[in-house]
Amino acid sequence: MSANVKSFYRVYRPKSFAEVVGQEFITKTLSNQIASQKIGHAYLFCGTRGTGKTSVAKIFADAVNCENFQDGKVCGQCSWCQNPNKTMDIFEIDAASNNGVDAVRDLIESVKYPPVVGKYKVYIIDEVHMFSGAAFNALLKTLEEPPVHVIFVLATTEPHKLLPTVQSRCLRFNFQNVALTEIEKVVKNVFQKEKLVAEDAAVTLIAKEGQGSVRDALSFADTVAAYCGQDKITVTAINRVVGGLDSKVFTDLVAQIMATDAQGVRATVQQIFNSSTGVARILAGTLAAIKDAYVKQPSPRLATALRVFANLEMTLKYATDPHGYFETAALVACGA
Ligand SMILES: [Zn+2]
Repeated sequence: MSANVKSFYRVYRPKSFAEVVGQEFITKTLSNQIASQKIGHAYLFCGTRGTGKTSVAKIFADAVNCENFQDGKVCGQCSWCQNPNKTMDIFEIDAASNNGVDAVRDLIESVKYPPVVGKYKVYIIDEVHMFSGAAFNALLKTLEEPPVHVIFVLATTEPHKLLPTVQSRCLRFNFQNVALTEIEKVVKNVFQKEKLVAEDAAVTLIAKEGQGSVRDALSFADTVAAYCGQDKITVTAINRVVGGLDSKVFTDLVAQIMATDAQGVRATVQQIFNSSTGVARILAGTLAAIKDAYVKQPSPRLATALRVFANLEMTLKYATDPHGYFETAALVACGA
């Protein structure tokens, strides 16, 4: 059973509000709305990729239809929960691939008909900002006066691209980037269930790779686990897997920083960025090499280097030119 075939993200996707990571405010509010029967007809889920928008939308679509939703959970017993055809009332549309007015017309046409199994038909529209102008206008009319049995959940990574008139008709929820510690827990949990052994530092590195997205972290975990097979998952293995960078390049960089070899630093940074390795891995590799060197022989220059690179983490995450920032940091550390 190869890990890359079954995709951790799909297998371990949350199936209930309680399993959703890092969006407690949203899952709690939605649970309360369902429990008190104060359900809106249009929701807008905003947030970066992999923060759980579609997962929450699916859980919500199921939960609004359960006849006995309690304590944030569907009952599993009612005619909805037990009905194998319940997906007939839940529609998922990917606006990125169906962005024309025709797709919306079909949707609007079907909105008229009552649900087949449950109380509500739920339309989940992913990447809704991709709809064309004409498609949006068509959708707007339905959003203005939705039939009582219809709920729209519009999900988007780019809410600023939506017309204000669309935004104002929706109940908006902002999905947060998931905290590193939360993603670490998810990765650890998945590895445990898969009976894979991993270094703590490797788990952290994988979680960082997600940059706030559980999905990205888990798909990176897929790649790493596929490479490692039944072997222990280590930082060294991760660095070797992706981009083919081994730790020697980072050891070289640190040696050049120590030797105030600015030219060498520039060349090594170039070599590092020529690999396809992600920024989080580059930074983790560099920090690990500096720490190793410091343990062997402490020095103010290494301490400075450690501080310079540790401070770079947030900058690199949002930088459009991580290469430039990284090189500057290396040169600063080098004292050049
Ligand atoms: Zn139920």
